[in-house]
Amino acid sequence: MSSAQSKSDSPNLIKNLRVPLNTEGEDSTEVGNYFVANYPPFSFWKPEYASSIYDVLNSPRPEDTNLGVYFHIPFCRKRCHFCYFRVYTDKNANEINAYLDAGIREFERYAQTEYLAGRKPQFVYFGGGTPSYLSVKQLKELTNRMKDLFPWDETEEVAFECEPGTLTEKKLEALREIGVTRLSLGIENFDDHILEVNGRAHRSKEAYRALGFAKTLGFDQVNIDLIAGMMDETPENWERCVETAIEQDPDCVTIYQMEIPYNTTIYKEMKESGRVTAPVANWPTKRAWVDWAFSRFEEAGYTVSSAYTVVKNPETTKFVYRDSLWEGADLLSAGVASFGHFGGVHYQNQADVGPYMIEVDKGNLPIFRAYETNNEERFIREFVLQLKLGHTKLSYFKEKYGIDPATRFTDELKGLQDEGYFQMSDDEITISRDGMLQVDRLLHRFFLAEHRDARYT
Ligand code: SF4
Repeated sequence: MSSAQSKSDSPNLIKNLRVPLNTEGEDSTEVGNYFVANYPPFSFWKPEYASSIYDVLNSPRPEDTNLGVYFHIPFCRKRCHFCYFRVYTDKNANEINAYLDAGIREFERYAQTEYLAGRKPQFVYFGGGTPSYLSVKQLKELTNRMKDLFPWDETEEVAFECEPGTLTEKKLEALREIGVTRLSLGIENFDDHILEVNGRAHRSKEAYRALGFAKTLGFDQVNIDLIAGMMDETPENWERCVETAIEQDPDCVTIYQMEIPYNTTIYKEMKESGRVTAPVANWPTKRAWVDWAFSRFEEAGYTVSSAYTVVKNPETTKFVYRDSLWEGADLLSAGVASFGHFGGVHYQNQADVGPYMIEVDKGNLPIFRAYETNNEERFIREFVLQLKLGHTKLSYFKEKYGIDPATRFTDELKGLQDEGYFQMSDDEITISRDGMLQVDRLLHRFFLAEHRDARYT
C-alpha cells in the first residue's frame, strides 16, 4: 500500500481540522483547466491531421489491444454555471432521436472498418452532458442497436453518468436491464442552496431518492461525484456534505476540486466585472478540504484509490474504463465533441451538433481534428495518467516502451522527491498525500517542453 493510500496518521485530529474559507492569495482560483485528462494537450490536435485516423482504421485489427466504446449525450435539463462542455438544454424528442440515429450511423461506419470489424468492447461508457436525460424507450433502442454492432457479451463494465433529477425507478430498472454495472450520480453537493447558486438542475431530495432506488436494484457499483469548493461552499457545509456521503454508503466517491475553465458562466461573469479571481475557495483551501474528506472516508472504512476517488472495497470496486484507458486501450468514441483514439492516434469529433449531423448525413465520420502520437508521447501519456493512481512501476514502462522513467526524468523526479511529493524505490514511484492533492499541477513537469504551457481545452 502506498503512502498515498495509507490510513491517516492522526485520525483523532480529523474533527478539529476545520479549514476556513479563503478565496484570495497567490493560489486563488483563476480561469483555466487544471485537470489533466489526456496528453498531448487538445490544443495540439489539428483538423489537418485528421487523415491519420483513416490510416489506422484501414489497417489490420490489433490482437492485444483492448477496446472501449464511448457515446456522448450532450443534453442537460439546465446548464450548470461551472460547466464548460457544449450542452443543449432546448432539444425536443424528435431532435434527440435524430441525434441518437446519427450516433448509430457513426457506429455502423466504424463497425465496417478493417481495424474495428468484429471487435468486442471490454468496456462501454455513456458520458455527457446527461445520458440519463434520455427516456427509457430511447435508452433501450440506442443500446440494442449499439449491441448489434459491437456486442457486449464480453464487456466487463458498462458505466453510465446520471443527473439525479432525471432518474425514476423505472429508468433505473431499465438501466439495470440494459446491463449498466457502474452507475455514477452527479450529486456534487447535498446542500440545496449550493446546488442552486451553482446552477445545478437537481436538489438534494432528488439525490436521496435516486440513491435509494439505485441501492435496491443491485448495480455492481454506485458512485457519487462531489465537488470541493463550489460557489458559496463553507467548511461547515463541506463537512456536512462528506458526512452525508458516508451515511449514504456508496461503493465509491469521486471528489473533484472546483476549477473555472473558459466557456463557463462563472468566467463570463468574472470577465464582465473585471475580476481575475473566481468567487470560490483558493487552491490550498480546496486541497485541505479534500484532504480532510479523504481522511474522514478512511476513518469510515474507505480506501483512497486515486487522486480523486475513495472506494469501499478495493478488491471488488474496479475501474475498468479508467485503468484500461490509462494503459493505452483503443477508444471508439461517438457523438458530438467526443474524443477517442486508435493505435496511438487521438481524434475529436465536430464540437457542435449542426456540423456533426451534417457530416454524418453526408456519409462521413464526423471527425474534426486528430493527433498522431509518437512513442515518446505515448509513454508520457501513460506515465502521467498512471501517476494519478498515486503509484506506478518503472518496469512497466521499460518493458512496454523501452524507456526508464528514472533516467528519462532524472531531474524532474529528483525535484519532486526533494519537495516531498514523490518517493522512489527500486521499481516503484509513490506519491505522498500532499502530492496527490495537487497531482495535475505536478504532472506538467513531465510534458515535452512544447506542451508545457498549452491551454488544456
Ligand atoms: S450536468 Fe454536467 S454536462 Fe450538464 S450542464 Fe451540468 S456540468 Fe455540464
